[in-house]
Amino acid sequence: MAKFTNNNPLVFTRKNRCKMCYTCVRECPVKAISIINGQANVITDRCIACGNCVRNCTQEAKIYYNSIEETVNILKSDKRKIAIVAPSFVAEFIEIENYKQFVGMIKVLGFDDVVEVSFGADMIANEYRNLLTKSDLQIISSDCPAVAFYIMHYMPELVSKLAPIVSPMVATGRIMRKKYGENVNIVFISPCIAKKAESLEINAVLTFTELRQLFTSFKISKETVKECDWDEPKAGSGAFLPISRGLMQNISKNVNVGDNDIIVTDGYINFREALMELSSGHIKSQYTELLCCEGCIMGPGMSKNGRKFQRRNLVKSYANEKVKNLNLEKWKKNIEKYSNIDFSTHFENMDRRASVPERKEIDLILINMGKSSAEDYLNCGACGYATCEEHAIAIFQGLAEIDMCLPETIKKLHSTIEELHTTNGKLANTQQQLNKSEKLAHMGQLSAGIAHELNNPLGVITMYSNLLKEEIPTDSQLFKDLELIAEQANRCKVIVGGLLNFARKNQVKLTETDINEFVKHSLSSVIIPNNISTSFCSEIKDTLMMIDAEQMMQVLTNVEKNAIEAMPDGGELKLVVKGNGKEIEINISDTGTGVEKENMDKLFTPFFTTKEIGKGTGLGLPIVYGIVKMHKGKIDVISNVNKSQGPTGTTFKITLPKNI
Ligand code: ADP
Ligand code: MG
Repeated sequence: MAKFTNNNPLVFTRKNRCKMCYTCVRECPVKAISIINGQANVITDRCIACGNCVRNCTQEAKIYYNSIEETVNILKSDKRKIAIVAPSFVAEFIEIENYKQFVGMIKVLGFDDVVEVSFGADMIANEYRNLLTKSDLQIISSDCPAVAFYIMHYMPELVSKLAPIVSPMVATGRIMRKKYGENVNIVFISPCIAKKAESLEINAVLTFTELRQLFTSFKISKETVKECDWDEPKAGSGAFLPISRGLMQNISKNVNVGDNDIIVTDGYINFREALMELSSGHIKSQYTELLCCEGCIMGPGMSKNGRKFQRRNLVKSYANEKVKNLNLEKWKKNIEKYSNIDFSTHFENMDRRASVPERKEIDLILINMGKSSAEDYLNCGACGYATCEEHAIAIFQGLAEIDMCLPETIKKLHSTIEELHTTNGKLANTQQQLNKSEKLAHMGQLSAGIAHELNNPLGVITMYSNLLKEEIPTDSQLFKDLELIAEQANRCKVIVGGLLNFARKNQVKLTETDINEFVKHSLSSVIIPNNISTSFCSEIKDTLMMIDAEQMMQVLTNVEKNAIEAMPDGGELKLVVKGNGKEIEINISDTGTGVEKENMDKLFTPFFTTKEIGKGTGLGLPIVYGIVKMHKGKIDVISNVNKSQGPTGTTFKITLPKNI
């Protein structure tokens, strides 16, 4: 690749256009494209300039080195400017019916000479003929530079078979230098981008699409130019060159090569297969003509929308016409005139095959890709590699990434979605809890305010009713009334005290407590009717933990009292202690009425009660809640009221951290 390096690449990616479809990876015959962080990069050292990626990228993310500026500079130079034109121009410039208009248009750009590269093809046909008649060597034609690069870099064992003959382009260049000397600038007008990388003997290589851009920017059209014929030397049947078997058509005259001894094929899959069979010895053709594209009529330097067979016919009829109108005498003279030029060249072994990892390394990568057995190898090709194994090898070589595996990425995506669902669920739950605590905190604040204000007047009422009682005979009606006032005032004080408890913040006095003993003991602080049985069991061994025993006893007795009150017809009260190293869980279950679904959210709200007036205050659970919160714990309630769904009853699950 004469003048191209990774810093001055022939083909490269327009990053903002790359949509990570891996088409370029799939279409690259030599896997010269690496994917790094999802972006495709062309590795110039590995590239054979075939332009397949350029042709196949629908996003036009792959572009090639632009030679317009170079050409414009050449046109401004003092040297003689010579355009040498590939014969496939007829397949590109379909709208120009007369080639003389086309030549005229190129002349207007500022070229002194416009010459057919087909004449170079005519000249080297002689060289091929000599090679084929003189020796019984196997020969691979070297006119397609992408094929030549492929052999040099990836099948160096075949380098010696490459015909040591220059391409028609270089041949024409040498002819022009013979004709005009060294003070010339030669621009090749080409359907192919590999030509840009082929030889330093040509000053610039302009693709047909670049030529179109030049015509447009210089406002040159067929209508406004003077018709011109090709400059000498004019070509003969070399004009067949762009179509498959074109070179052969030109050289086969007078050469005794049987049909079986010739392999002619095109396209990037076929040419590699042919080379593989040649290398393995399965075919032994004397002459192999290979074109990387489907003939030079579908090159990457041409417009993308062309029709293959129409283009083929156009080239054929142009060439036929050409041969028909050829001034044979003059042509022969020209051939004679330039026959002493040296048209030889030399191809080198430039092995660039990447190292292949060992089996165990491939297997390791495959496992990392989530493919541990044969049925995981889908070989779907979505990553751009034909098989999962090829993908794994490319990962080893630093060319590919695991994320390129679509089925694996989809699988990961699914599990991420699932995780996201779970997280969302947890978040919603936490949000709900938060709302609840916020509501209760507001309630707490309000209650504390009211309680505080009521406490003093209640104290005054209690004190004065007691003082009055002392001055009145105990058997009088007034005494009884005062007693009632004092009693009710006391009741109010209890309620107010409850409210203050609920609102209390961060006031815990922690002491080391044996939780098993503690829970068991809580049962002796409540009155248990005869029709209710109790049980206790513990699943933990490490029983010591820090709690505020006085307050926590209030929690347990409140919950236990509720449980007993929920079982007016008897039942079972069960206490279970569970836990791990971090927290313990006290479960208090009853077989009572259960909590109605619509009440579940209200349980911990102050004054919520379903009990008759005088029996329930609705302050038990709010206090429980307040105390458990101060212990940095939580309470969950599971309840069933519906007999058809199993035994009714409620479980209060109090979870407390072992270390606050
Ligand atoms: P109170 O016991 O004074 O009604 P609580 O705050 O202790 O107030 O309880 C509030 C309400 O929660 C109760 O009235 C009852 O409806 C419901 N509740 C509490 N524990 C239970 C339980 N174990 N079974 C059924 N309902 C319960
Ligand atoms: Mg209660």
